[in-house]
Amino acid sequence: MILILSANTDPQGAEYRQLLAHLATLPGIQTRVHVERGSEKTLTEIYLIGSTKSLDIEDMRRLPCVERAVRVSEEYRILGRHKDDQRPAFFEYNGVRFGQDTLHVFAGLCAVDNPEHVEMMLQALRDNGQVCTRMGAYKPRTSPYAFQGHGKNCLPYVFELAGKYGIKVIAMEITHESHLNEIKEALHQTGNPTGVMLQIGTRNTQNFELLKIVGRQTEMPILLKRGFGITLDESLNAAEYLASEGNRNVVFGLRGMKTNMGDPHRNFVDFAHVPVVKRLTRMPVCIDPSHSVGSRQAAPDGILDMMHVTAQGVMAGANMVLVDFHPAPAKALVDGPQALLLKELPYFLEDVRIAREAYLKRVALAQRYPNARQ
Ligand code: PEP
Ligand code: MN
Repeated sequence: MILILSANTDPQGAEYRQLLAHLATLPGIQTRVHVERGSEKTLTEIYLIGSTKSLDIEDMRRLPCVERAVRVSEEYRILGRHKDDQRPAFFEYNGVRFGQDTLHVFAGLCAVDNPEHVEMMLQALRDNGQVCTRMGAYKPRTSPYAFQGHGKNCLPYVFELAGKYGIKVIAMEITHESHLNEIKEALHQTGNPTGVMLQIGTRNTQNFELLKIVGRQTEMPILLKRGFGITLDESLNAAEYLASEGNRNVVFGLRGMKTNMGDPHRNFVDFAHVPVVKRLTRMPVCIDPSHSVGSRQAAPDGILDMMHVTAQGVMAGANMVLVDFHPAPAKALVDGPQALLLKELPYFLEDVRIAREAYLKRVALAQRYPNARQ
């Protein structure tokens, strides 16, 4: 059960202390307090853990400071959607809103190779009105002999150039806790010209110790990719690890499943789960057409498979698209064959816009047929 307290409840106040004292007397119940400091108000939620079945929800609602009490199922307590749960399904970071109602494209380099390519990419984004990008500095590679990313050495120029071109948020994968400090330090040293969304890659979805460490920091939001060989429920629980440590600004990323049933695509595209994740949780949902399809193959209609699946995901309500671009894919150090070209950026964005419009029209249509909704 979650007790949602009145906005701006004073943690030093007598009423609040009275509430905590009462909760401490409940047998078999432990409490966990989560405080969310927004720009205008501070929200406090108290999670009651243990045998809450015997608690009467009306009694709990009458306790001092309590505005609402929500009975949650065992699953995804913090990030999940529960009956009568009106907690928000969005967050803001560095002036950008990420929600189940918004859409952002994160086009960029799979792996940073040199400052020239980073600058060409960022300039193209700025020229096309984009404020988000992806930039890989730490690359988890199948072979130990493959390029592992420039790591912390590239961070200063990546961040400075991002600031120069008005980029607000960079999705950047980290594979070790030390990377978190390297990113924080580089942001600090360059004067915070941009923001970072920490990406947990599919190989680390169930690296619980990494999840706990990343979840404990609340400065930067997190993009958690679905694990490529585990169930959706297991991946959603991984997201809950982040939230249970304190960071609930989490975007959930679909990137395809590893199985040869998806051949000839690199992974079996799983964007049919966009509405499922939105129904089960309050997380915005990201799709990654590059790592799921993995090639520039096109259909007879002239449209790349990557663009077809992007449109499918966006038309199903996706909130974020993570996509590889490169100014010179033949020279890319990682994943060149799946990169889109800079000259394809306006085309890609227009295609996404068409799909988004279709999605919004579909939502309006569904509202005209309320009986079809269960
Ligand atoms: C990536 O986005 O660069 C990446 C390695 O993705 P994934 O973890 O989905 O393989
Ligand atoms: Mn890649």
